Amino acid sequence: MKPESLMMSHGYKPELSQGAVKCPIFLTSTFVFESAEEGKDFFELAYGHRQSKPNEELGLIYSRINNPNLEILEDRLSLWDAAAGSAVFESGMSAISTVLLEFLKPGALLLYSAPVYGGTHHFIHHVLTKFGIDFIEFGVNETKQNIIDKIEASGKSKDLALIYIETPANPTNDLFSILDMVCLGNEYSEKNKQKVYVAVDNTYLGPLWQKPLSLGADIAVYSATKYLGGHSDLIAGAVMGTSEVIGRVKTLRTFLGNMISPHTAWMLLRSLETLQIRMERQQANAIEVAKFLSSHPKVEKVYFLGEGGSSSQQSQEIFKAQCLGPGAMISFDIQGNEQTAFKFLNNLKLFKLAVSLGSTESLAEHPATMTHVDIPPADKIKMNITEKLIRLSIGVEDPKDLISDISQALQ
Ligand SMILES: *Cc1c(COP(=O)(O)O)cnc(C)c1O
Repeated sequence: MKPESLMMSHGYKPELSQGAVKCPIFLTSTFVFESAEEGKDFFELAYGHRQSKPNEELGLIYSRINNPNLEILEDRLSLWDAAAGSAVFESGMSAISTVLLEFLKPGALLLYSAPVYGGTHHFIHHVLTKFGIDFIEFGVNETKQNIIDKIEASGKSKDLALIYIETPANPTNDLFSILDMVCLGNEYSEKNKQKVYVAVDNTYLGPLWQKPLSLGADIAVYSATKYLGGHSDLIAGAVMGTSEVIGRVKTLRTFLGNMISPHTAWMLLRSLETLQIRMERQQANAIEVAKFLSSHPKVEKVYFLGEGGSSSQQSQEIFKAQCLGPGAMISFDIQGNEQTAFKFLNNLKLFKLAVSLGSTESLAEHPATMTHVDIPPADKIKMNITEKLIRLSIGVEDPKDLISDISQALQ
């Protein structure tokens, strides 16, 4: 069955919860063992002192290690990416930082695509460097050969341990090839005789319109605050991958203690029931809005992966190879400057002026002075993040109402 058919039932047994049709919230820190022997048995498995038996699931011990809301959420999330497993976190940043810490160590080299989410950029530049972890970044116009030359020139190619990309990149929808990175990872794994992992931040198009694991990536990370949560009412994150990857990530999570709370997990279970219809509607709306923007005289350029967006030949090829839809994020250059952009933003009535994305309500923001304010001016110009750029996250409202709001604000 399709994931959308299973979101109401998968992984939950009503008979274990008084027949409740919906999974209750398990607000408990600890779980009662039936006997001392059972407690011993659970701990042996939890701490890897013995292998699990066929079809054996870890018994409930303590909510930092496991909890029914977390486990059911993980079972359901895995279906969307056809992943062997997933791990849920208290934020997207905790999912990302846990992956970076688990797959890198002092002396290791990280290769990553720029731009990435601001928090990820900060973690790579200011936290990982404190632990002696080096990085190389590459931009959207660099070829695979360029990237290889950079790795070789660093003198640290033997230490390459992780390739991390975010695609489409925020806020201009630049695309990076997942397949190229998987190839590169395989080449260096063979050369170095040591696995080089490939991780993709799939927040922008996932889990519906981009499936990195099916393209060979080892790890997909999500800010579940965005489409997965989808109502601007929670902060959460997720990692999906093979059982080896998820086993390692969950072990580090146990000791960092950055797992999701039972209440937030329960809210996400509710969100997942409508994930597909929300995202489909948001994308259909975005297609209408992008069409309108691309024909408006006060709009200079639209950054959108569908019709009306201006994308290079290379970007179109990558789109065909790895995306199943254009998504619901649109950026555009307004004719004018910061003052014009602010006037437009201040005149919006239905769109809310806020950062974040992927929610039921439409949001608008100014990347150059808000989400991307920390990027050095020269880099901003390279990335097309000018004072004219406005970013929209399209929600589930009536598309005509969204268009008339944009129209009156442009006017
Ligand atoms: C929001 C976001 C993050 C960070 O997630 P939080 O849930 O805010 O911690 C990471 N990556 C991308 C692409 C995001 O949009």
